[in-house]
Amino acid sequence: MAADPYAILFEPVNIGPVTAKNRFYQVPHCTGSGWLRPRILADLRATKAEGGWAVINTEYCSVHPSSDDLPYPSASLWDDRDIRAHALMTDKVHAHGALAGVELCLGGARMANLSTREVALSVGNLPNLAGNPFQTRQMDLQDIRDARRWHRDAALRARTAGFDLVYVYATHGYLLSQFMSKSINRRDDDYGGELKNRVRLVREIIEDTRDAVGDTMAVAVRMSAEVNGGGGGDGNPLTGETEEIFGMLGELPDLWDININDYSLEMGLSRFVPEGSLEPYVAGIKALTSKPVVSVGRFTSPDTMASQIRRGILDFIGAARPSIADPFLPQKISERRFEDIRECIGCNICYTGDAKGVPIRCTQNPTVSEEWSRGWHPERIRPRRSDASVLVIGAGPAGLEAAHALGKRGYRVMLAEAKRTLGGRVSAEAGLPGLNQWARVRDYRVGQIDKMDNVEIFRESAMTAADVLETGADHVAIATGAAWRRDGFGAEDLSCSAALAPPDALCTPDDIIAGHLPEGRVIIYDDDHYYMGSVIAEVLRAKDRDVTLITPADVISSWGAHTYDRWRAQSRLMEMGVGICVSQRLRSFDGRTVRTACTYSDREAETAADALVLVTARQPNDALYHELMKATQHKGQPPPLSVTRIGDCNAPAIIAAAVFAGHRYARELEEEIDRDNPLKYDRVFFQDG
Ligand code: ADP
Ligand code: SF4
Repeated sequence: MAADPYAILFEPVNIGPVTAKNRFYQVPHCTGSGWLRPRILADLRATKAEGGWAVINTEYCSVHPSSDDLPYPSASLWDDRDIRAHALMTDKVHAHGALAGVELCLGGARMANLSTREVALSVGNLPNLAGNPFQTRQMDLQDIRDARRWHRDAALRARTAGFDLVYVYATHGYLLSQFMSKSINRRDDDYGGELKNRVRLVREIIEDTRDAVGDTMAVAVRMSAEVNGGGGGDGNPLTGETEEIFGMLGELPDLWDININDYSLEMGLSRFVPEGSLEPYVAGIKALTSKPVVSVGRFTSPDTMASQIRRGILDFIGAARPSIADPFLPQKISERRFEDIRECIGCNICYTGDAKGVPIRCTQNPTVSEEWSRGWHPERIRPRRSDASVLVIGAGPAGLEAAHALGKRGYRVMLAEAKRTLGGRVSAEAGLPGLNQWARVRDYRVGQIDKMDNVEIFRESAMTAADVLETGADHVAIATGAAWRRDGFGAEDLSCSAALAPPDALCTPDDIIAGHLPEGRVIIYDDDHYYMGSVIAEVLRAKDRDVTLITPADVISSWGAHTYDRWRAQSRLMEMGVGICVSQRLRSFDGRTVRTACTYSDREAETAADALVLVTARQPNDALYHELMKATQHKGQPPPLSVTRIGDCNAPAIIAAAVFAGHRYARELEEEIDRDNPLKYDRVFFQDG
């Protein structure tokens, strides 16, 4: 009998004094909750432990008020009153047989302490590296002693809170990276100059931590594979001083957690970065240490994971996003239920939670951050309340998720879709450059529905109000989506004041997706500010159109800053030769010339163009809903018990919002929900004690 190729993923691995039950390792990742929302956080982490992850880490955990990153919510261990919040998580993680880790953090010049108003401390007198007009004080030897003490005290609190692993966080540009940096560290004392000195504080903190926790906890270090280097991946990926650093520190910790300098690659969008992209960078690390090594790569394929271990690249499969999209990924692999894995699509909507200081959301997993607030479990759902039947109209992300979750509840579901293809906007957009993984939103749900006898799909069934009533369904969910507007209406032009003509020279993303590409010189006007404008520019430029993207914002894809779309999108458009014109509001188009006005000076500008693509706002496809509401007022047929609009047909938004809407509809159908107060609000509780 052939050896089981996946068994290797379920081998236990020692991390110093503790043992991980398998190789699935949730690396530290932000949740947008941190110390602000301890209960939401504890249940989010606990759900992953339940799903089979062997190690569950916190996000970066500040050790002192002089490392305060608000409005980005970190965890904290500033004093003993923080312990209670962490113990909530560690207890729950342990209950599922997993290890809990904490990533202690000294922020240095990356944190401006906007909330605590402490002066930030760093290796020198540096500008704030996150763009705030605050500088740091250069740490003197007493400051260094203080920082070591804060870190040590936090490690002891972490032990009291029940953690099994404690991190020394020496990368991502925070304080310890600032000390190690050749360009930033200009000190002439024992902490500056030659590498041995620049690494001194890292070494001291590793030793302090070990000394404080003894063999009661494992000590992990998070480090870049490219310290003072960069641009590896050319067969000799260990650039800079990494090799020398491992010569000095390689055997000190119990585990190395390796990342790289380029965040847009480390946390790469599927639009730009494939699975396993860090391999060329981390491949050499294991030769430099006998300690276990973990790294990430948006791993969702069990074959890729097993191969990483078998080829000796990694000891642990590190994951942030795949563990958010599917907290039960390890369990599903262990049960060989590969078709049940809800694969991360690499859209980084989860990252927007941290960027905006709210609990993280996920396109694939509508239950994330709702485990405590709404009592939603990613795998379990309450059985149906009655024998009622449900008609879901539209098989986009909202309709598919509603049908899937209703099916799981045991309802009889009819899913009617006008087209032959299921998936709505995700199928349409998956054909655009770089967005093919959007199709996973469809494929996971269709795969699940196909296994259910109680959900029937009717393709090529464009429903009218009469058709709906004829089905006799007890409940009707209308998930008919939205269409891009062609009248210029958008945040910058709520009164449609721009004079736009002729109609055949105006297009929308829907036209381009349908294959109707304009000819000649094309202007894309982007008042949407997410990915669609730049993706459409890519489509047209690849077909040799002369393309200029105009936006009223000061940068292209401004909302894409929260997902990391923005920078790579702009680089790509520039490489492709797309013209970029910012801070311009659309005034008119007559088929030959686009007129815009500067958003600051109102000065007008003209650009010659044969066609104008409007990426501004979408119009809900809600005609069926209104038709149905009217029809149900006539006597004759008994009206359905409920008719509800969900997803883009209700209010156009991101795909994650449509999936959430579908899921919520299914969860709440025939349930007693306090509509005014549908969820529990987490509140910080530790100040009181
Ligand atoms: P959402 O993001 O809210 O799920 P989408 O636009 O992705 O919305 O999907 C809407 C789906 O509804 C599309 O697949 C579309 O073909 C389908 N649809 C629209 N109108 C009807 C209708 N009258 N009957 C059946 N399906 C419809
Ligand atoms: Fe993956 Fe997107 Fe979910 Fe983040 S939001 S975990 S990138 S699917």
